[in-house]
Amino acid sequence: MKKCSMRITVLLVCMAMLLTGCSKSSPNGESELSFVAGEYEIITKGHNGDMTVVTVFSEDAIEEITVKDHIETASIAGAPIEKIPAFIVENQSLKIDAITGATVTSDAIISAVSEAVVNAKGDLDALKNKEVAIVSRDAVEKTADVIVVGGGGAGLTAAISAAEDGASVIIIEKTSSTGGNSVRTAGYYSAPITDLVNKHEMNESQRADIDRLLSIEPADELMASWQAKVSDDMIAYDEAGSTYLYDSNEFTCLQYKDRFGAGVSTTLLSHMIDLSDDTYYWLQDYVGLNWNEESVSILGDNWPRWHNLPEYKSGEGFIKVFEEIIVSKDLDIEIIKDVAGNELIVEDDVVVGVKAIHSDNTEYTLNANTGVILATGGFSASVELREKYNTKWVYVGEDLPSTNNKAMQGDGLVMALDLGADVIDIDHYQFMPLADETGDVHGLVGDSQGLFINKEGNRFVNEGADRTVIVNSILNQTDKGMFLISSQMGCGLDENGYNSFGAHIDSLIEKGAVLKADTLEELAKLMGVDEAVFLETVKTHNENVQNELDSEFGKTIFREKSIIEETGPYYASWKKPAIHITKGGILVNTSEQVVNTDGEIISGLYAAGEVTGGRGPSGLLEAFTTGYNAGKQVLN
Ligand SMILES: Cc1cc2nc3c(=O)[nH]c(=O)nc-3n(C[C@H](O)[C@H](O)[C@H](O)COP(=O)(O)OP(=O)(O)OC[C@H]3O[C@@H](n4cnc5c(N)ncnc54)[C@H](O)[C@@H]3O)c2cc1C
Repeated sequence: MKKCSMRITVLLVCMAMLLTGCSKSSPNGESELSFVAGEYEIITKGHNGDMTVVTVFSEDAIEEITVKDHIETASIAGAPIEKIPAFIVENQSLKIDAITGATVTSDAIISAVSEAVVNAKGDLDALKNKEVAIVSRDAVEKTADVIVVGGGGAGLTAAISAAEDGASVIIIEKTSSTGGNSVRTAGYYSAPITDLVNKHEMNESQRADIDRLLSIEPADELMASWQAKVSDDMIAYDEAGSTYLYDSNEFTCLQYKDRFGAGVSTTLLSHMIDLSDDTYYWLQDYVGLNWNEESVSILGDNWPRWHNLPEYKSGEGFIKVFEEIIVSKDLDIEIIKDVAGNELIVEDDVVVGVKAIHSDNTEYTLNANTGVILATGGFSASVELREKYNTKWVYVGEDLPSTNNKAMQGDGLVMALDLGADVIDIDHYQFMPLADETGDVHGLVGDSQGLFINKEGNRFVNEGADRTVIVNSILNQTDKGMFLISSQMGCGLDENGYNSFGAHIDSLIEKGAVLKADTLEELAKLMGVDEAVFLETVKTHNENVQNELDSEFGKTIFREKSIIEETGPYYASWKKPAIHITKGGILVNTSEQVVNTDGEIISGLYAAGEVTGGRGPSGLLEAFTTGYNAGKQVLN
């Protein structure tokens, strides 16, 4: 009897081990893991498409994890691909958070390893619950001429600019990789490089836009001087019988002031535009960016003064080249990742450094011989700050998605406010019309100024209008969304099926982010849109593009690629607005020095990029010009 019951017990234990995974106790009471040893390959969905994760188990440990065969954006996914496998193997634990700014890739790796654990008969619950103690190191103190807080576009540009003039620089970056939002961009920098803009012909609508801007009431004398200059230029242009697309610094200022609104400082705007071509050529000649020989217009801007790097998809090219130049020119720049600045150090009313904390809780003190540059980006990811300052939008709360890296919490703004810094245009945010329900813009398929329709199958807005106009129109449509429509010519996919952000069409269709059909009728059905209305809308849209005239919504930008062709395939994707760029921020002067609420300079403190305000949602234009300028000014 006794023997028999023992045998049953042993069998039951073995069955339980097979069902729940094998785990036994070590002499110190900790649960010991066991697996069916072997190599387990899992194909999972990353951000851009499939990725393969191979996990190797011995009988009692996860020995090795390799991520291979993926198409993730290297500068975004590099950190999770390196760090998550290393963490799991080192700690034999799956209790790990996603890496900020690369959540989808992080979660994909963790879920693939989890699946492999189950297949290897491991105890997934034990691994998911295994706490890993964070061990901080002795406090670190370092000194450099310049301390830059934030390693995005503005921070890297500022560091390179200062180091070019011989400064030693330390950049602290809160996340595990450089690039911030700058790496997530579509990769377009705007600047009125007239040689390139003049290559385009001017259409009637564009000419009408110039005349309209010349007739508006100037906000101040500076704006009146831009109008006077453009007016003189147009007289000469007409006398010469010119037909090229006109552009100038003054005209760009006029357009941006008109578009970005009353909160924009004409002085700061004008200074940024004046710096934009110097910065363009510095980025080309010193840093080594290989600009496209053609300039284009992008969503929200009807003038083709946007420049990208044809060798790269998205903004990753900028960050890659910045990092390479630091090494190849042997610049005295140290980048310390996973370290967040949280307090400015002040001595005798001068900012002399930054206190910061590493993600392992190690304390850092960074001393600056000449100055500190705040380059921490905007605050679109901080629900608290955007709700605090918002006066313009009906809702900016938690349920509103953001296109931003989650690190964009306004840290630099808060640090500067602690020292009495003033702010400008702080309640002004730009929304991105073409995001998905989560705020992701990387699933873009179609011409971003092509054809937008609502759920009723009708156009409802000038697709070339300012983003605020488009967003307000979208918010008035059924379900507060719209479809972006294109045929093959305007879909923006390369010959291998990748879009401009590096995402593959098959993966986008599989996720439901993009609908694809061979006929327009089929596409209407997939969208749930009235077929007859949709076909009529497409017909009128094509006529508008061919005639370069939109009598219904006043569109002025007509690109051949936005024509919906007679044969498929056709694409549609459902788009919703998401909070994108904070236009306002810290008030600086034209030397990028932070100004306090008494109008005085805070000595030793500079700010660059989206953390600053008063120049509208100027994105990389603001990041690169003010970064470049701050790097020079901090040494004066
Ligand atoms: C999806 C997307 C697409 C876009 N496309 C374009 C485009 O094509 N063209 C364009 O002109 N603009 C575009 N923009 C806007 C543009 O990306 C930003 O305005 C610009 O990148 C801001 O640059 P920045 O250097 O100020 O900030 P970021 O590049 O965001 O860098 C800020 C850095 O600071 C770090 N940081 C934050 N807090 C701390 C702290 N306490 N300590 C240390 N580090 C910290 C962050 O982790 C981040 O790395 C886009 C924005 C998004 C989100």
